[in-house]
Amino acid sequence: MRVRRHRSDDGRAPATPAPGDASAPPDRPVLAGRLGRNRPGLAGGLARLFAGKVDEATFEALEDLLVAADVGLASTGRILAALRDAVRTGAVAPTPEALVAGLRAEIVASFAGEDRSLKRAAVPPSVWLLVGVNGVGKTTTVGKLAARESADGRRVVVAAGDTFRAAAGDQLASWAERCGATLVRGADGADPSSVVFDAVEHATARGADLVLADSAGRLHTKTNLMDELRKVRRVADRPPGRVSEVLLVIDATTGQNGLAQAREFTNAVGVTGIVLTKLDGTAKGGIVLAIHDELGLPIKLVGIGEGPNDLVAFDPDDFTAALTGA
Ligand code: GDP
Repeated sequence: MRVRRHRSDDGRAPATPAPGDASAPPDRPVLAGRLGRNRPGLAGGLARLFAGKVDEATFEALEDLLVAADVGLASTGRILAALRDAVRTGAVAPTPEALVAGLRAEIVASFAGEDRSLKRAAVPPSVWLLVGVNGVGKTTTVGKLAARESADGRRVVVAAGDTFRAAAGDQLASWAERCGATLVRGADGADPSSVVFDAVEHATARGADLVLADSAGRLHTKTNLMDELRKVRRVADRPPGRVSEVLLVIDATTGQNGLAQAREFTNAVGVTGIVLTKLDGTAKGGIVLAIHDELGLPIKLVGIGEGPNDLVAFDPDDFTAALTGA
């Protein structure tokens, strides 16, 4: 194990970040504002709906648009059934404008009442484990979270748990350096559970608040990824560690495959929430509705770029506005 310290001697994050410093508090940009550009998809299709009167063809067009935005057949069916009901009972007027407003309300309501807060253990350190397939943005999200948590004054230890991809460790080293977090990494190919275990021990010894554990999305060995993740989770949960979040990172451009990934990771490691990345680069992202509907997982964070401030809390109104081009 190698421990890299990027902190002042007392282990605290710098009190006053320099201007432009990665550890400066994120300004939490409004999602719709960031996604408003270049989003044809659903938004463009809805604009065309305004042209006609509401009939069966309108509902069919709406169905096509939702499916194209990756909302998935089951969730699309549920939303359209609710909309049809609303039109039948008069709750939604049979005009394109009212229908679109009803659609938006229905999508927002899908996410109502869920707890999207990031959980912390009663006794620190908390462990947040990030899982997901290769390339979805796990390492970047760990980096952004380290920046954000450090800026909020927490002592953060980053565990470079993707030991099969040397570049992931290097990526995390530079994130940690910028925000003053401590990085724990193993030799290339080391057992990731031992890296996470060392990180938890280190965090406990230093009185750190949070361990952010990256993990591999693909293995270069015959070991089964899910078996390995189960082991990482088990080890991270062994006292003094307390896994309070297992965040599944989903790439918004992945499409319906994201649902299969969510099922598999949920069965293996008990996912507690979803991080939807790369929403800045796609008119889609409806996959989170499908994941939410089928697995009941809260969407906790949204990635909208590669910079330290490009991680925002999931906001159903913002998300729906972005998805439907409000
Ligand atoms: P990992 O294999 O899951 O750890 O994925 P990485 O964190 O290495 O990310 C893969 C690529 O996606 C990198 O080029 C990241 O900069 C990029 N990326 C990650 N999150 C986002 C995001 O929210 N928006 C955009 N545009 N790119 C992202």
